[in-house]
Amino acid sequence: MLGAFEKPAASIAAVLVLAAAPAALAAPTVKQLADNVYMMSEFHYVSLVVVGEDGVLITDPAFAPRARSMKAAIAEITDKPVTRIVLSHEHYDHVGGAEVFPEAQVICHASCQAVFDLDVIGMTPETVDVTFTDSLTVDFRGPTVNLHHYGPADGFGSTVVHLPEARVAFTADIYEDRSLTHGMWMDDDNYLAIRRVLRELQQMDLLHAVSAHSDDTSVEIVDENAAFVEALFDLVGGEIRKAMREGGPTQVMMNLATWPGELKLPEYADWKGYDEHLPAHVRRMALSIFHGG
Ligand SMILES: [Zn+2]
Repeated sequence: MLGAFEKPAASIAAVLVLAAAPAALAAPTVKQLADNVYMMSEFHYVSLVVVGEDGVLITDPAFAPRARSMKAAIAEITDKPVTRIVLSHEHYDHVGGAEVFPEAQVICHASCQAVFDLDVIGMTPETVDVTFTDSLTVDFRGPTVNLHHYGPADGFGSTVVHLPEARVAFTADIYEDRSLTHGMWMDDDNYLAIRRVLRELQQMDLLHAVSAHSDDTSVEIVDENAAFVEALFDLVGGEIRKAMREGGPTQVMMNLATWPGELKLPEYADWKGYDEHLPAHVRRMALSIFHGG
């Protein structure tokens, strides 16, 4: 298994692997999760592959070499073409490779296109064909695939892909395995939306919680992260309420500068990145509660 790792390491590793890759394609690791439901993992990215009567739905091809490798692996499973590409959110490292599947509709939250319009280095799809705001059921005569937007968790368009019959969900960049996400990747996160996504995942009675950068689909990882976020919410929210009582919003603004260095969650001290990155997580939670983003 890949295990959890920090995003910068993942991205740099992916680039290095690509730069060193010979012309021949590598092959993704393929695991079947349920009837007609697979996960494919390669270059430190994981995608769902769902086979329907009308074609194949995939998530996050990420970039063209990976998409080509996926296409070859999908041809080993079915002769149906990829007709739906569901993007987990708008961040550029997840959304490339659509051109490898010319028959596919690109599906992304309604907020994605505005961010894609700002792309100056050509990493995003040319068009988003299908958008949604709160939720969407993708009809391709296959296993039920529901898309849910529970707020701007990581990026504006964070989407949970839920297959209720298969009891599988797919998310990207919402949580890691006993590891705190590197602080530099937290600026675009709203911790109250992350909290909501984790709670919704817990309600889904899943067999597999697939996360875009880990081969471990254990549902326990969701529970552990939900508990961590709740502890962080209680700690930071408690301080904000106390400061509001004592000195109002001005007091909170003053404390925002010092809380990241002061507030601790010692029960999570053994999580990877705790010492280095907990301050960024405290700051993100404080700004999400007090500032809305
Ligand atoms: Zn990612």
